[in-house]
Amino acid sequence: MNAQSAVESQPMPIEYNCQTCGACCAFFTVPVDSTEQHGPEWLKRWTQPDSGSRIMRGTKGGNGPDTSKRPLNRCIALSGGVGVAVHCALYSSERPQVCPDFRPGCELCNLARSAYHLPVDARFDSKAWWNTRQRVDGTP
Ligand code: SF4
Ligand code: SF4
Repeated sequence: MNAQSAVESQPMPIEYNCQTCGACCAFFTVPVDSTEQHGPEWLKRWTQPDSGSRIMRGTKGGNGPDTSKRPLNRCIALSGGVGVAVHCALYSSERPQVCPDFRPGCELCNLARSAYHLPVDARFDSKAWWNTRQRVDGTP
């Protein structure tokens, strides 16, 4: 392989543009930590109880590798089409802390994107990720 073809065979870098993605907002259960300062009206409108704590409304789901078995879990604050154009109604005001802490391009970002068949890091293997998880916690 010459230098030219080596360069041409490099995978294209992924653009992690959250405004055209939204996969993580429609894949994971989104917890709202009890230490966060949200008022009762905010909690009532945007969250739901879950196992003694609260999560963003709409995000209680399976998060499993088989999307056909996964109930549709999608944060109530998300509008638009995943993988096309999305908007978070709480973006500049009062998102739960887990949202700004979530980093585009991280392993879980790639996992969520793979569930929606969006481009992921060439080194990320979602099947291997799930296999590792099964070994760790026995999740089928
Ligand atoms: S999955 Fe990644 S790229 Fe998509 S919205 Fe979430 S952080 Fe952004
Ligand atoms: S609050 Fe906004 S950023 Fe956080 S999960 Fe919901 S839609 Fe996504």
